Amino acid sequence: MTTAAALPDALSDAARSFAGGPHRLVIGGERPEAADGRTFETFDPATGRPIAEVPYAGAEDVDRAVRAAREAFEHGPWADVSAAQRTRAMLALADAVEAHADELAELESLDNGKPLKLAKRVDVRLAVEHLRYFAGWPTKIEGETLPVAQPNMHCYTRKEPVGVCGQIIPWNFPLLMAAWKVAPALAAGCTTVLKPAEQTPLTAVRFAELALEAGVPEGVLNVVTGGGETGVALVDHPDVDKIAFTGSTAVGREIGAKAGRALKRVTLELGGKSPNIILPDADLKAAIKGSYQAIYYNTGQACNAGSRLFVHRDEYDDVLAALVEAAGKARLGPGLDPGTQLGPLISAEQEERVRGYIEAGKAEGAELVTGGGKRGDGGWFIEPTLFSATRDDLTIAREEIFGPVLVALPYESIEEVARRANDTEYGLAAGVWTRDLRSAHKLAALLRAGDVWVNTWTAGDPAAPFGGFKASGVGREHGRLGLEAYLENKTVWVNYG
Ligand code: ADP
Repeated sequence: MTTAAALPDALSDAARSFAGGPHRLVIGGERPEAADGRTFETFDPATGRPIAEVPYAGAEDVDRAVRAAREAFEHGPWADVSAAQRTRAMLALADAVEAHADELAELESLDNGKPLKLAKRVDVRLAVEHLRYFAGWPTKIEGETLPVAQPNMHCYTRKEPVGVCGQIIPWNFPLLMAAWKVAPALAAGCTTVLKPAEQTPLTAVRFAELALEAGVPEGVLNVVTGGGETGVALVDHPDVDKIAFTGSTAVGREIGAKAGRALKRVTLELGGKSPNIILPDADLKAAIKGSYQAIYYNTGQACNAGSRLFVHRDEYDDVLAALVEAAGKARLGPGLDPGTQLGPLISAEQEERVRGYIEAGKAEGAELVTGGGKRGDGGWFIEPTLFSATRDDLTIAREEIFGPVLVALPYESIEEVARRANDTEYGLAAGVWTRDLRSAHKLAALLRAGDVWVNTWTAGDPAAPFGGFKASGVGREHGRLGLEAYLENKTVWVNYG
């Protein structure tokens, strides 16, 4: 077992104590190891060294977790909990997360590599906000009375929880993705088995511990740590009613196909290759700053990264020069170092993938304007990288890279840029920078994406639906739509004639 002594000095005692283990699954009120004793290591991306050893849940563990969730849903305390009590439990969980904000942010920064400030201001803060927003919903889940034609017939609808959920999340915003999944499920009255990514298992387990401490009944939130195999067992389990998945489009397609065959409810939040368009009349300073953040934020490891930058030909050279200057000043380093602006990539595998794309960009004739290199010896650091290209069919202009690699492309007219922006299999997000209202609304209507940002990037709120067109996903998270993905409609007919 890895010892706390191997952990970075910068960690607080609370984070050190949790990271030091021992680590266990969370199933019902129990904390078992994997049934077959299997474990895996999670790594510090800033050094490449292991930080903890975690149980690798297999099909038997997943089955136990699903049974615990089913029991809590049908016979356990969650089945009898009133809507108002669900609200109170969720608010208590939000308070507990907030009270442990520093510890959770440190664990996230350690496990994922992201700057501590980002982990605190974005991941932990928004996780709390999601819990609080959805905590308001249980008492507002209402059916309707319907004016049907038959005489002496009382017809009404009930909104009922879908049941037991299998929720599978990625490594780029681990705690936040857990909150995005768990909050609407609990609000609807579902129970869940959550599987964090194998690269970042720590905060999901801590989150489930805090839920138990906050009074969320046993079996309502179960956590199985493990890899793809664990996810497969969860998706394939016949007693899971709904799958919610955030991750790659390749895995999402597979899960969608399986859910289709089994007729399970499914929501998928997948990849993107989001276009970001700077019009000639934009506030260029704001557009450059926003476009820089759009791609390099979280080291480019965001499904909604603005990874294709379309700049009008007249401003093209100026915009690229400003981006090169900003990228040159970026401070790369370990997430726990207070001066760090850009953390490492999540894994050696991801670094390899991103480097492969950089090589493909060069080989296919794109101009490498800045970056492209590795930094440091131990961790998985890649410099903020900018390519300039004129062809939309380059690999780096079509495939999701999930790293700090931006492809800039010049254009001449609005119609042309809208067509080229939409020429992708993805449709998660799109951005427009302009001072002209007509251009803003025209492009907002033309762009085929689940979110269109005008003069901003990555604006989001628990109340505002988020999700993708086309290969970027199925369904929406957040807001009323996000809640409805966890509810079934039942229509009741009562003949009183
Ligand atoms: P990435 O390529 O970014 O790691 P993945 O889509 O592979 O994204 O992983 C996202 C999540 O899905 C992780 O929790 C991972 O363990 C899980 N996963 C991977 N493969 C499968 C699969 N075939 N079925 C279910 N879950 C999977």
